[in-house]
Amino acid sequence: MNPTTTPKLPNTKLFINNKWVDPITKNHFDTINPTTEEVICQISQADKPDVDLAVAAARDAFENGQWSKMSATERGGLMYKLADLIDKNRDWLAQLETIDVGKPYTVARDADVAESAQTIRYFAAWADKIHGKVIQSAANHLTSYTRHEPVGVAGFIIPWNYPLQILCWKLGPALAAGCTVVCKPSEITPLTALALCDLVIEAGFPAGVFNLVNGPGPTVGEAISRHPDIDKISFTGSTRAGRQIMAASGASNLKKVTLELGGKSPNIVFDDADLARCVQGSIDAIYPNMGQCCCAGSRLYVQEGIYDVFVEKFIALAKNLKLGDPFTQIDQGPLASEAHLKNVLNFIETGKKEGAKVLLGGARAPMKGYFVQPTIFADLRDDSCIGTDEIFGPVVCIFKFKTVEEVIQRANNTQYGLAAGLWTQDISKAHRVEKKLKAGTVWINDYNYTHFLIPFGGYKQSGFGKDLSEYAIQEYCSVKAVILNH
Ligand code: NAD
Repeated sequence: MNPTTTPKLPNTKLFINNKWVDPITKNHFDTINPTTEEVICQISQADKPDVDLAVAAARDAFENGQWSKMSATERGGLMYKLADLIDKNRDWLAQLETIDVGKPYTVARDADVAESAQTIRYFAAWADKIHGKVIQSAANHLTSYTRHEPVGVAGFIIPWNYPLQILCWKLGPALAAGCTVVCKPSEITPLTALALCDLVIEAGFPAGVFNLVNGPGPTVGEAISRHPDIDKISFTGSTRAGRQIMAASGASNLKKVTLELGGKSPNIVFDDADLARCVQGSIDAIYPNMGQCCCAGSRLYVQEGIYDVFVEKFIALAKNLKLGDPFTQIDQGPLASEAHLKNVLNFIETGKKEGAKVLLGGARAPMKGYFVQPTIFADLRDDSCIGTDEIFGPVVCIFKFKTVEEVIQRANNTQYGLAAGLWTQDISKAHRVEKKLKAGTVWINDYNYTHFLIPFGGYKQSGFGKDLSEYAIQEYCSVKAVILNH
């Protein structure tokens, strides 16, 4: 099927209790296509009273509704149906993701949407396999066991770089555990989450299990974070917003919080790496999704013996990246929003002022849309602004290093700890270095690979808690200890 650049749009109202409803204020905001810079449509904007209604629906569904009476196997069955519907609507969802985010259509279809369905399906299989333990040896007169109970109403706050995929990373384990959900997508990319609501109804989920309220972070996101009747927040986004969400949660009911935050991840190339693999792998570490990837390998450390040849080949590959209409065969679309374009261009100008050498790019691309040239900086200080702050765009900083000990120290010298990569053919060196890197994910001779079987989450100020894998399920469970005295 040929993708259309003007797909059918989903309902744009609020989704509460399986109904499309107008916000109490009747406010709305625009969502913009970053390729054409044109308004796609207007989206209903919630406010605090709408959040209250969504939370009340989720609470009722959790405590009293049909969902609360279903067996875990029945819950899993609904999730399988949802996964199938995501697959069935793959082209449509990918078209919506492409017009809203600007990511290449084939990537949206074959990665983002396909993996969203797989993630829901993986967690569907977990729904009836969440077990407590019998603790046999506490004392002879006791029988003790643990029960893993759903934590309750979960609030999701979602970013704009992988709108559907990150939502499904959270929705899968939350539903498997038996929670109900109030979700706030990013105000920059609301479309695929809205589309998902219709699929939730079609799959047969009872009213109130999944509710969606669109709007800005400081109002709607804040209302969710502070809400006394939400038991859990799962957030992916910036470290700045993560701090605010944690503070709001702490100031209200101390809800449990999972934070997947920013990064400035080191990607380390040793002299003995396979040259062709590490050059392509380092391109794949920074440029996919226009560099708008939380785990992007944006600090590229290259050992002195391989530095010159590596940099020459790296520039050559980066030069070949094709920018353009994301519905055509390109490598890079636009950045997701005009505000973000300005942020990235500001960082580029700061880098120039700091005296870093521009090896490639360094400007907005001369075409309609929020395009930025793939940019490479070198000869900069580790403590420069562009070497330490997350840019979240197609901008990489290359550093030269001499020794293993030195690069470990420099790689870890950051507030962040989301991910790291290393390239070497010496397997014992790979393990020695991996053990020392303070990051939630370390790729060895690879970069950016994620999978629903593998946990994902950060160290340090990149957050805490895990998405994906069986680890994620515990984020949505409370463990009750039961002790029976005979
Ligand atoms: P952002 O923090 O500005 O926004 C993310 C979401 O939080 C949006 O829905 C926004 O409306 C909401 N929000 C903003 N301020 C809020 C507040 N005070 N209270 C409640 N909600 C608020 O981030 P972004 O610009 O959308 O995304 C980019 C950031 O996300 C980057 O820092 C990136 O590294 C990070 N990210 C992390 C991961 C991960 O898994 N660790 C994945 C993707 C993106």
